[in-house]
Amino acid sequence: MAKIKDIRTTIYKWTGKIVPPAQNFCTNPTDLLRESGDKMKSFRFHKWLVCEVISDDGTVGLGNAALAPEVTKTAIDCYLKNLVIGEDPFDYDYLWEKMYRSTMAWGRKGIGMIGISAIDLGIWDLMGKLKKEPVFKLLGGRTKEKIPVYASKLYSQPLKDLQIEADKYLKEGFKMFKMRFGWGPKDGTEGIKKNIALVNAVREVIGDENDLMLEAYMGWNLEYSKKIIPELVKFKPKWLEEPVIPDDISGYAELNALGDIPIAGGEHEFSVLGFKHLLDLKAISYIQYDSNRVGGITAGHKINLLAEKYNVPVIPHAGQMHNYHLTMAGNNCPFSEYFPVHQVEIGNELFYYLFKGEPEPKNGFINLDDNIPGLGISLNEKYKSDFKTLD
Ligand code: MG
Repeated sequence: MAKIKDIRTTIYKWTGKIVPPAQNFCTNPTDLLRESGDKMKSFRFHKWLVCEVISDDGTVGLGNAALAPEVTKTAIDCYLKNLVIGEDPFDYDYLWEKMYRSTMAWGRKGIGMIGISAIDLGIWDLMGKLKKEPVFKLLGGRTKEKIPVYASKLYSQPLKDLQIEADKYLKEGFKMFKMRFGWGPKDGTEGIKKNIALVNAVREVIGDENDLMLEAYMGWNLEYSKKIIPELVKFKPKWLEEPVIPDDISGYAELNALGDIPIAGGEHEFSVLGFKHLLDLKAISYIQYDSNRVGGITAGHKINLLAEKYNVPVIPHAGQMHNYHLTMAGNNCPFSEYFPVHQVEIGNELFYYLFKGEPEPKNGFINLDDNIPGLGISLNEKYKSDFKTLD
């Protein structure tokens, strides 16, 4: 029987080059404040937490958490790690419940669940390595020959530059594209016009035959969303993502019930019951949990099975291996998000610099290797000097 001997948490802070923030780059929740200061501050993050789950034979499972790494590290070090040390990693479901129920009074959603996620990802990577099987194989196996991915970037910028970027992805073979809005409720009718011009510019380049997704990143409210949706319908978007804040579930349900544009969300929702609530209310048409927040692969897999019964597809937030394995093993996961590799800007690109092993898309598809055990990632030595580690 394998035993978890230790859990090691390390924060990696990017000290390399950063693309400077641009004005109206992407809507976000602080846009609605009286004075939001640096509008992009809460949106950008340049640190990442690595959580190593170490077994008694020395095998290391790699988990990670992107959000608020200092606080997540404290939650793991002070509360969660001692709940799993000495236990068998193959008792993953029991360990998940143990962590969840032991932190119920303050955990549940947010930091507590992000900490559980980081450990759970490490446990799954460890199980794969010990069994010499890829994680998707442990989850039930391959459901598709390869995974279609959508190019997810196209932040708000001058229209000409936006079209050049869209054209680049089109030429690389992508058939699905996601773009961001730059303006919200405080920007009035002028802002609506600017948002529409962005969508029009991308649609012009990608044509009608390709899929276009629209992302508001929690930067709007219900009233604004209801005002702009009729203007967006003519562009036939596949979905509108996070138009309102994640706690405004009735707002989600109201927008989805309009039936004009399917509503997508969930990258800021937590645990299986969080998604059951959204599904019961028909609040979303596409589920987008991220397994390094939602409760790891254990929770992600259960949400996949639950959503299948509700006929709501799951397209996890972000590419990244922890999500790709769930997509590969999920009958109800038709495709994946893919963040094009880019100089460090927002922070989600850090994944590529911190880890190696991420699959590269070819003609709009990625694939996972049947012969690489675990999640298939390792710490990337190449950019080691661009990170400062904080233990
Ligand atoms: Mg999103």
